[in-house]
Amino acid sequence: MVEVSAKTAAVIGAGFGGLALAIRLQSAGVRTTVFEARDKPGGRAYVYQDEGFTFDAGPTVITDPSALEELWALSGRKLSDHVELLPVSPFYRLEWSDGFSFDYVNDQAELDRQIAAVSPRDVDGYRRFLAYSEELLHEGYEKLGTTAFLSFSQMLRAAPELTKLQAWRSVHDKVAQFIKEPHLRQAFSFHSLLVGGNPFATSSIYALIHALERRWGVWFPRGGTGALVRGMVRLFEELGGEMRLNTPVDRITTAEGRITGVALPDGSELTFDLVASNGDVVHTYDKLLRADRRGQAAARAVKRKRFSMSLFVIYFGLKRKHPQLEHHTVIFGPRYKELIGEIFKGPELAQDFSLYLHAPTRTDPSLAPEGCEAFYVLSPVPHLGAAPNINWAHEGPLYRDRIFDHLEERYIPGLKADLVTSRIFTPCDFRDELGAHLGSAFSLEPILTQSAWFRTHNRDDVLRNLYFVGAGSHPGAGVPGVVGSAKATAELILKDLQAA
Ligand SMILES: Cc1cc2nc3c(=O)[nH]c(=O)nc-3n(C[C@H](O)[C@H](O)[C@H](O)COP(=O)(O)OP(=O)(O)OC[C@H]3O[C@@H](n4cnc5c(N)ncnc54)[C@H](O)[C@@H]3O)c2cc1C
Repeated sequence: MVEVSAKTAAVIGAGFGGLALAIRLQSAGVRTTVFEARDKPGGRAYVYQDEGFTFDAGPTVITDPSALEELWALSGRKLSDHVELLPVSPFYRLEWSDGFSFDYVNDQAELDRQIAAVSPRDVDGYRRFLAYSEELLHEGYEKLGTTAFLSFSQMLRAAPELTKLQAWRSVHDKVAQFIKEPHLRQAFSFHSLLVGGNPFATSSIYALIHALERRWGVWFPRGGTGALVRGMVRLFEELGGEMRLNTPVDRITTAEGRITGVALPDGSELTFDLVASNGDVVHTYDKLLRADRRGQAAARAVKRKRFSMSLFVIYFGLKRKHPQLEHHTVIFGPRYKELIGEIFKGPELAQDFSLYLHAPTRTDPSLAPEGCEAFYVLSPVPHLGAAPNINWAHEGPLYRDRIFDHLEERYIPGLKADLVTSRIFTPCDFRDELGAHLGSAFSLEPILTQSAWFRTHNRDDVLRNLYFVGAGSHPGAGVPGVVGSAKATAELILKDLQAA
């Protein structure tokens, strides 16, 4: 263990990235305080409790539990001391408007059978795609996913492998090289949307998500994703860390080119040896460093980058069970490439949609009252910069009704009559509740020119004791991504503290 116990750190934000970093720092002996603006931890993984239903607001597909287990192992504990992870199968059920359906499972023979039934020649193509995806997993996730990129030369060192794997091509492009049948191309390329990437523009590196799921499985915590968040908070507090909820940081304070601490809305100033922001990168530079020249210059630069799409989410509880549904269902609309193009570019809200339907009570019935079922459904939509004219206060309820009509007609008969509770979350809520620039759901878009060294650095280039963790920093969004960013950032911090 590094001798850093006289040092103090402030982590701004209790998202998965902030919590994972706080656990790592506290485990290493750094006295760490987490400041969270909202009344509960989790960030995008917030939890709503309505009428006896428990709704996880965000992440529901938990992959790579080994990255989470590492956080407990740092202090000789076990993840299972605090959280029980339940396996989910199928990983997803995929449904198309023409009636085609595919159960994406972790069983090679069953995958082969389903692929052969629609396109025999793609059985071999899928195997070659999986091998390619495994190579990406090794190069892009295992080797580079937890290493901070602070210099361009690091990028150059990674270049030969990325070139060999054709990282400049898009996810869909690579999938299409191996797989010919249109439904299957969608089935194996949509994954980058889960981390905010357009499959037609995002680097093929993100096709690694497929191998990641195949290798470590898809899991769901008993009690919901919120139970995993609570487990992380418990671990952090047992280690002696301080969690301050309902405490937005108003400013990061600086003097002589260094961070000195944080200021709270009541005007109080608290001194720390270093500050790590898990908040939105634009919010951090633009608002929290509003009085600092470096902050303003960096804010201008980051605002010029491309941001991921937003999401429209409906959380709803029904007084009837629907055992015909699986835990995770992806519902593809009649258009794929064109719809995704409109989601990323705007400027309108498309008439059709592709949806992800979450039915957690399939795995854990305790998330709804007896005989009832909790759901959420999300639709990717343009962010507020791409579609500035959508009035979500007016459009939101109409859009909800259209989605409900569609679900009722095809998947959940009687939905509206059985409705006990519902709430919506729009791009404006991502902006207002989470401080997300343009209401983006996943921060910077994961394209090659905004990845690794090109993404917000895990340590600021000028303010040398300011660090970043979470979706806007390397490697990017998604629970494994932000937990990986925490590892990269913690290693930097501990090295810097030792050198000081
Ligand atoms: C609807 C939805 C579904 C998703 N599904 C999945 C999934 O199934 N699997 C998956 O792996 N990923 C999923 N993701 C992506 C994943 O949830 C995110 O990438 C990840 O949780 C982001 O974590 P983060 O560390 O960047 O922090 P965030 O979750 O963005 O949290 C940041 C925190 O910082 C706080 N904060 C900001 N500014 C301040 C301030 N000034 N003072 C104090 N606190 C502040 C905010 O209140 C917030 O709590 C999903 C995302 C969404 C939105």
